[in-house]
Amino acid sequence: MAKPTGATCNLNCTYCFFLEKERLYPGSAFRMSAEVLESYISQYTQAQRVPEAIVAWQGGEPTLMGLDFFRRSVEMAAEHAPPGMHVTYTMQTNGTLLDDAWCEFLRESGFLVGLSIDGPRELHDAYRRDKGGDGTFERVERAARLMQRHKVDFNVLCTVNAANAGHPLEVYRFFRDELGVEWVQLIPIVERVNSDGSTLLQEGDTVTDRSVGPAQWGDFLISVFDEWVRRDVGRMFVNFFEAAAASWAGVGAAMCIFDETCGNALALEHNGDLYTCDHFVEPAYLLGNIMETPMPELVASEKMRRFGEDKRDKLPRWCRECEVLFACRGECPKNRFTLTPHGEPGLNYLCAGYKAFFAYIDPVMRIMTDLLKSGRYADEIMGILAEQEEVEQKALAHAGRNDPCPCGSGRKFKHCHGRG
Ligand code: SF4
Ligand code: SF4
Repeated sequence: MAKPTGATCNLNCTYCFFLEKERLYPGSAFRMSAEVLESYISQYTQAQRVPEAIVAWQGGEPTLMGLDFFRRSVEMAAEHAPPGMHVTYTMQTNGTLLDDAWCEFLRESGFLVGLSIDGPRELHDAYRRDKGGDGTFERVERAARLMQRHKVDFNVLCTVNAANAGHPLEVYRFFRDELGVEWVQLIPIVERVNSDGSTLLQEGDTVTDRSVGPAQWGDFLISVFDEWVRRDVGRMFVNFFEAAAASWAGVGAAMCIFDETCGNALALEHNGDLYTCDHFVEPAYLLGNIMETPMPELVASEKMRRFGEDKRDKLPRWCRECEVLFACRGECPKNRFTLTPHGEPGLNYLCAGYKAFFAYIDPVMRIMTDLLKSGRYADEIMGILAEQEEVEQKALAHAGRNDPCPCGSGRKFKHCHGRG
């Protein structure tokens, strides 16, 4: 992904780890030049081994570059991409600068837009504020409506943080019922506190009080999953559920954090510096500059290979022996800063949440996988669960106090669902 304005943004969201990155380029104007743009587009499209390339713009806030920059990027792709190549575009934005002209361009050029929004007003505004300290909800919601009016293809990116983590259904239902979106990308906020008190680098074994807690994260996913699997399969798409379904089906994870190795999420800074990952834009992870060294050479470098394979090779034993390793893979290395119960370093801070979530969804994922393998549709799960629950409700209604509980817990009814 490319960051044409580096870390610069017109907002000042309190949990944003990008904002501090401005310190890495002191004195920079943080604007990608036409030369870097052209070099990036031509090297990137020409390096593909498949007839498709996805140009992903990210920030900071990329729309600060102005519309002409992106018009030019599309023209350059048309000039430089090999014949027959299909180039598509994505952009992650806070939406506040979008207007009719932007939306027309985004639709005409086939951009897929990710809109950053953390739920309804009071939850969104908890951290997503502008430089004057005011909430941004109204401006972001306006952007969503504008894109809907212009038929721009967009999804929402929702960070799960200390403020909204306790309100999973409020957040999910807001996206589904009020905003009317179908694709929701969740991302847990885990901010490591560095020894100087900043959150600039992926260092330190404590987190800010804005970060989501491990159990809280698991509970959030489970609550949303429960709602989704009973009524929204096939019409709402949540990145973590799609990725889990892919892992259970054995077709490879759909999110880099659940891949066995890293290496497919490199980040290009405004000046052509290429980093191993957008979460590791820091000096130790700089591969080089694409204006000096061809991008394919940087991508194929030993440093990049090591970074990618470390994700698998540095897993602690606790993970290697974990029953949900196939789905979790130890998640993102940036979050691996706690000790295992054996005292081994490198356990993911969110482990408890993932263990709980993956264990919880396992029975349902198995049914969905069987449905797909037998040529049926995954959304049949909703009817299957409804039937199971009806049978269970009937059994509960007829259970005697000393009978085994019909839920299968192994406890007596009076000590389980019949309690009280
Ligand atoms: S470091 Fe994390 S975000 Fe980056 S590629 Fe690896 S898993 Fe993905
Ligand atoms: S759930 Fe925990 S132990 Fe299992 S792979 Fe994930 S981080 Fe490791």
